[in-house]
Amino acid sequence: KIPVVSIIGRPNVGKSTLFNRLIGKRRAITDPTPGVTRDLIPERWLLGNHPVTLIDSGGVKVDRDSMDDLVAKKSLGLLAISDAIVFMMDCTEVTAEDRELLEYLRPYTDKIVLVVNKIDDPKREDLLWEYYEYGYQRILGISAAHGLGIEELEDTLLGML
Ligand code: GDP
Ligand code: MG
Repeated sequence: KIPVVSIIGRPNVGKSTLFNRLIGKRRAITDPTPGVTRDLIPERWLLGNHPVTLIDSGGVKVDRDSMDDLVAKKSLGLLAISDAIVFMMDCTEVTAEDRELLEYLRPYTDKIVLVVNKIDDPKREDLLWEYYEYGYQRILGISAAHGLGIEELEDTLLGML
C-alpha cells in the first residue's frame, strides 16, 4: 500500500504553496483569496525513495458552514486514511478556525506534524514557541514560499512512514 500524506489547515495558511513546493510543479491553485483550492488534490510524490500519495486538502470556503462541511464530509475520512498528516498553521495569526481544527484533530495526534508556516526569516524561529502549547510531539517552522525548513519536514515525514 502506498502511504498517504495529507496537508490540512484552515484556508490561507499556505497548504497549496507547500504542496506545490513538494511536488515541484504548479499543480494546486494558490491564491490570496481564502478557499480558492476547491477539492482534495492527490499527487504521486517521491519522499526519499518512497512513493507516497500527497494530498492537498482544499475544499474549504471561508464561512463556518463549510468549515463544518470539511470536517464532517472530507477531513474525517481523509484523516483516517492518512498515514501522516501535516497540520499547517500560520505564524502571523491563530484564528478560531485553527482552534476548532485543533480540537477535531486531537484523535489523530500520533500521526500529525504541526507545521507553522510563513516563518520567512530564519531568525524568527522563536515564533514557534507559542505553538508548543498545543501538545504535539512534532513541530516545525517553515516558509513554504521561501523554501525554508522543507528538508526537515521531509525527514520528519520519512520517519513517520
Ligand atoms: P491555502 O489556502 O492554505 O492553500 O494557502 P495558499 O497556498 O493558497 O497561500 C495563501 C497565501 O499565503 C498566498 O498569498 C501565498 O502566497 C501566501 N503564503 C504561502 N506560504 C507563505 C510563506 O511561507 N510566507 C509568506 N509570507 N506567505 C506565504
Ligand atoms: Mg489551497
